[in-house]
Amino acid sequence: MNKAGLLVLGGTAEAVELAVVLSQISRLEVIYSLAGKTTKPNLPNCRVRVGGFGGIKGLEEYLLRANIAAVVDATHPFAAQMASNVAAASASLKIPRLKLVRQEWMPATGDNWICVPNVQEAAHYVEGSYWRVFLATGISDIETFTSAQYSKFFVRVIEPLQHALPLSDYELIFQRGPFVIADEQALFERLCIELVICKNSGGRGAEAKLTAARNCGIPVLMIARPEMPLGQIVPTIEEATRWVETVI
Ligand code: NAP
Repeated sequence: MNKAGLLVLGGTAEAVELAVVLSQISRLEVIYSLAGKTTKPNLPNCRVRVGGFGGIKGLEEYLLRANIAAVVDATHPFAAQMASNVAAASASLKIPRLKLVRQEWMPATGDNWICVPNVQEAAHYVEGSYWRVFLATGISDIETFTSAQYSKFFVRVIEPLQHALPLSDYELIFQRGPFVIADEQALFERLCIELVICKNSGGRGAEAKLTAARNCGIPVLMIARPEMPLGQIVPTIEEATRWVETVI
């Protein structure tokens, strides 16, 4: 049988950092897993696997085949499908699982946030009300905004897209975080942005847009996180590391 493994489901800066720390201290082999949706991801210096597992069933097979002893789900707070799949697969195989997820952003004095429960509500809110909209949500739910026909969307992406977006009027802004407040502010001013749409991802790397929006007096349409599966959740790499030390 192969050496027991510790699976880190990645796709976030914290996941990379955690995998690096665990590789240094754990007696298990750390395996960092990525969906494979970006072409030049940041990677830790440990074993890496790329691509979906094939749903819950495929994941169960993988966990057994790779002799996984524990899993840390450090995917993005909006990666609801992966979180749900790994919760189900690890429960059925009785493999310890932890969710590492950074804390949510909270509004500060001077912020003008409109909080909506999901991306559909965000699209309804925009329809016919805002002309120049900065979309910082990524493009996974982009078709939801098709109904906002009178808005021009400035869509921030990391790399060129394979297909045109299903929006009537848009411009791509190619940028990779972490972002700086002064640059974000200059960008919003140059583009005459009236509304910033973002997911409540939390974390430092993408926080600058919120401060920039506050400084520019621009409202922020904040999309709430999806529900996470039941189970232990920690917000920091240190706590995730301690959890690993106690379960293996
Ligand atoms: P998702 O909807 O929860 O996942 C869709 C499918 O992608 C999963 O069912 C799984 O395929 C595969 N997948 C996701 N994460 C994976 C991982 N770490 N390793 C192997 N397969 C994975 O997630 P998503 O929103 O598409 O996000 C995909 C990845 O991008 C995640 O790792 C996430 O951390 C990262 N990310 C997401 C966002 C966001 O806003 N959603 C933002 C930044 C980064 P199978 O069912 O075939 O196993």
